[in-house]
Amino acid sequence: MTWSFETDPDFQQELDWIEAFVEQKVAPLDFLLANPFDVKNRENIRLVRPLQDEVRKRGLWACHLGPELGGAGYGQVKLALMNELIGAAKFGPIVFGNQAPDSGNAEILARFGTPDQKARYLQPLLDGEIVSCFSMTEPQGGADPLLIDTTAVRDGDHWVINGEKWFSTNASTADFFIVMAKSEFDAKPHESISTLIVPGGTPGLEVLRDVGYGNSHPTHGYVRYTDVRVPLDHMLGAPGQGFVVAQTRLGGGRIHHAMRTIAKARKALEYMKRRAVSRTTKGSLLSQKQLVQEKIAQSWVQLEQFRLLVLQTAWKIDKHGDYFKVRKDIAAVKFTMPQVMHDIAGRALHLHGSLGLSTEMPFAQWVIESYYLGLADGPTEVHEITVARELLKGIEPDPTPFPDYHLPRRAEAARALYGAGE
Ligand SMILES: Cc1cc2nc3c(=O)[nH]c(=O)nc-3n(C[C@H](O)[C@H](O)[C@H](O)COP(=O)(O)OP(=O)(O)OC[C@H]3O[C@@H](n4cnc5c(N)ncnc54)[C@H](O)[C@@H]3O)c2cc1C
Repeated sequence: MTWSFETDPDFQQELDWIEAFVEQKVAPLDFLLANPFDVKNRENIRLVRPLQDEVRKRGLWACHLGPELGGAGYGQVKLALMNELIGAAKFGPIVFGNQAPDSGNAEILARFGTPDQKARYLQPLLDGEIVSCFSMTEPQGGADPLLIDTTAVRDGDHWVINGEKWFSTNASTADFFIVMAKSEFDAKPHESISTLIVPGGTPGLEVLRDVGYGNSHPTHGYVRYTDVRVPLDHMLGAPGQGFVVAQTRLGGGRIHHAMRTIAKARKALEYMKRRAVSRTTKGSLLSQKQLVQEKIAQSWVQLEQFRLLVLQTAWKIDKHGDYFKVRKDIAAVKFTMPQVMHDIAGRALHLHGSLGLSTEMPFAQWVIESYYLGLADGPTEVHEITVARELLKGIEPDPTPFPDYHLPRRAEAARALYGAGE
């Protein structure tokens, strides 16, 4: 029997170290540097690299990776406990070497990359020397990847890529792009898309502009590919295997976002409690008003429920070692996450009044981020559909309008069993 909600004392020591380190050394970077992914910026190098070295020395670098790739191989449960502290600071993930989209792109390279690709792209990515971009969504539609119009056409010993991509995060700072494009024109739709590596700076690769949301630094590229040529060996996986390759990154990406979301929702609740016991109106503290107490209680329960779902899903990933087998749970986490963030950050904003709404507090940005969480890696509705489909799989229709759980039928069955009753 191993049913436990406790952390080993040894690992708790690591968590305590992470919490203090993030609070004291990493969070201040959020006020000094604009973009965690600008890894070649002189100030980023000066301030971020020493912190990354501290994390490496502590053995906590890139913990989402197995030991064969230089990580601690802790698994998803420990990673969840770490990420719910690391996620409290914008620079947290980059300092600990497990930032999206690089973590997912590394998973793709580790699984599908050739030894050459691993040496050229994966190793420097894992070492934090470069960053990468995953380029799938297009202006005419992201939720339905079958709408991909970008093409990759074979020409001698090269693939030639043409098309436009929208919201390609970190396009302007990336050293390489993982691009989804249609290459198998006669195949079934799900077998028509392939995945290719495009090195940054390849002629014809152009970032038209960077887009932001709320008051975030604009880092989401509107990208055009015009006759972009890459050697044939720059395809990841087989031609037409694009969706299989993409799934490799999305499972981990979604659950890791959820782990980090817990950190922010927790902060929002903490700030809400502090405001409640600090502010007086109409003769009593906010914390003494029952309508405020309800908000605090609801937020705590929502957060605890979500955290348990995330941890249980992380545990299932560790148990099965296969994101696909846990897709229902990951989808459930994915669509619950924006709501939890939205509700708790929104209540914290409201309780702080005009100050809470202002740009002098983090809440408005967190509320906007809740919408980001509901879109990036697929919109909420798509994940709700996945959960429902999985739940309905194999459920047989009842042959009569009065199923066997109809109470008169159950009563009849009970009488038949015991031959008794009033
Ligand atoms: C912050 C951020 C970062 C991102 N980073 C990347 C990145 O690095 N690379 C990349 O390729 N993409 C990225 N994306 C794009 C993201 O994957 C898409 O936004 C997402 O897939 C939705 O596509 P869309 O924006 O085109 O919306 P649409 O596909 O137009 O969907 C809009 C809305 O339509 C509704 N809808 C869609 N499908 C269904 C359905 N089946 N049933 C019911 N309603 C539905 C939903 O309400 C949905 O929100 C990022 C997005 C954000 C917000």
